[in-house]
Order: sequence, then C-alpha cells, then structure tokens
Amino acid sequence: MSNILVTGGAGYIGSHTVYQLVQRGYNVTVLDDLSTGFRDAVPEPQLHICSLFDTEQVTQLLIRQQIEAVVHFAAFIAVGESTKEPERYFTNNVSGSLSLFSAMAAAGVNKLVFSSTAAVYGNPVSTPIPETAAIAPVNPYGETKATVERALGWLDQCRGLRSVRLRYFNACGANPEAGLSERHVPETHLIPLLLKAVVTGQPMTIFGTDYPTPDGTCIRDYIHVDDLAKAHIAAIDHLLGGGSSEVFNVGTGHGFSVREVLAAVEAVTGKPVPHVFGDRREGDPAELVADSSKLQQRLGWSPEYTSLERIVASAWPSEQRRWA
Ligand code: UDP
Repeated sequence: MSNILVTGGAGYIGSHTVYQLVQRGYNVTVLDDLSTGFRDAVPEPQLHICSLFDTEQVTQLLIRQQIEAVVHFAAFIAVGESTKEPERYFTNNVSGSLSLFSAMAAAGVNKLVFSSTAAVYGNPVSTPIPETAAIAPVNPYGETKATVERALGWLDQCRGLRSVRLRYFNACGANPEAGLSERHVPETHLIPLLLKAVVTGQPMTIFGTDYPTPDGTCIRDYIHVDDLAKAHIAAIDHLLGGGSSEVFNVGTGHGFSVREVLAAVEAVTGKPVPHVFGDRREGDPAELVADSSKLQQRLGWSPEYTSLERIVASAWPSEQRRWA
C-alpha cells in the first residue's frame, strides 16, 4: 500500500485520520512538533517529532519514507485566538505550509490533501454554501487558510502539485473504540465545553443571542470527526488514482443553533447544562452550513453521523473522564 505522510497527525482530526488510514492498510508516517498534539494519539514507531519549518529535515523524511502523498493538518485552529495573535497565525499556518511545500518539491512528492475550513467563506450570502461561493474570510484564521489555498492553485499550475482542499465545517465527536478524542488546550469548541459544564457544574457561556437566526444563536454544521477522516481517505484515493486538484466542502448539510446543540447535550447526558449568555465572539459568522453534494457525487463520500445526539454520545465518555 502507499506511503502517506500526515502532518499534525497527533492532533484531533489528524489522529482520527491516521487511525483510519492504518486500518485501511496504508503505511503512515506522522510528522508533528507536539506543540498542540499528543504523543499517545499516535503509535510510537510512526511518530516523527519535527518542525514543519525545518525544510531540510522534512525533505529527508519524505525521501527516506518514500512518501507518495501528504495529508497536511498541522496548523493553529482557534478563530478567537487568531484575532488576538494574527502574526503568529500567519507565520505558523502560511509560512509553515510553504516550508512543507518546498520540502515536497525537493523530494518530488506532488500529491497533497490540505485541511481548509468553512471560515474561508466569512459571512456567506446564502446557505447551504457551495464551493463556488466567494472567498471572503472574516477572521485571520480563515485568511491564513484562504492564502494557502490560493498558493496551492499556483503550485498546481507552476509545479504540478495536485491537491485536494477540504473545507471542514465544525469537526466534533470522537472514536472511543480507537481510544481517540478531542483534547484542545485551551478548549474553545462548543460540544466539549457544553459537556464540561455538565461534568463540572460550572456554567459555559453562549456567545451572542442577537444573531439573525430563528433563535438568535449561531448556526453551524457539525460533522463527526470519523466522517471527516473518511473524506481524507477518499481524497487520497482520488489523488493516488491520478485525479486532478479539487476543492470540497465537508459537512452534513444540516445546521444546528447553539441552543439546539445544548438541548442535544441535555438529551444525551440526561442532565441540565449550566450556562449563561454573553456577548458575541469576535469573528463568528451567524450561519455556516455546507453544501457537500460535490464531495458526495465526485468521491462517493457520505456522512454516517447525521444525528447530533449520536455525535454528542460518541464524545460523552471521553469528555466525562477529561473534566472529572
Ligand atoms: N460557542 C459558544 N460558547 C462557547 C464556544 C462556542 O457559544 O463557549 C459558539 C460559537 O460562538 C459558535 C459555535 O458555538 O457559534 C461553534 O463554535 P466552535 O468554537 O465550536 O467552532 P467554530 O464555529 O468557531 O469553528
């Protein structure tokens, strides 16, 4: 089977994807600097602790492991943080990616799956959002991803680097059978914070109740991390099969408000979620829901987790341990 390099493979979506790649028989090498990832999320022999900025070492790793394709997750991901530290986000997410692409060019590797985001769309004019919608980020995080996406267009044209850019909507859930879960430090994501509030009794804050949505809270498309991982495998297979560069949204096509997610957490845990209402969080669009029909039609992908309760239930055991 093919040799695949996964950058950021010790992180949340990365580790779930590594698990599925290994299950399917790929030879997987993980590159991670462990700045936010976890050593125990990846089998020890597969993990190479290295910075993306060390172009020479990454080049040598690609050559030594005879890598045929790269899945590139390694990046900073917090929207709120990106509005406070934009320089750090641009350096890490844009310069880090360019260092990787230089290493790939030096090693002769020309297939890439890139972690992009719905944040590239900013405040979309209509939902569900197709891939053809305008790229207009409203926060630095989204801008870093849009910048790398644009660079990839040129690298395809100038160097023949074939890439699949996957624009994730809201990754969530966990794979308890694989012993994998979400462990961001600090945690900023809605579902883990709702579950934390249930476990600790400390209220979480709902950011904004005056959005132009039916109940006033933001609407997002929550996609299970295993369904996201499956999309990466479909993308790898597409590229290894000689497929051309593509961009795909990855979401379920169903939007849920913050209040609806809270209700799903109460239904799954059987407990009330202590919460308070706060101001809007800077950089949050009102509604982001994917039109992922292109991914379904072109790569035969479809989400298995279409119920919010099932998604929350998959995260509940690990979140109970995490916050106890
Ligand atoms: N959210 C919230 N309280 C929190 C964390 C998130 O109300 O403590 C809201 C946030 O404003 C957004 C939604 O939950 O509308 C999803 O946020 P998350 O950070 O999970 O993902 P993002 O949409 O930023 O990728």
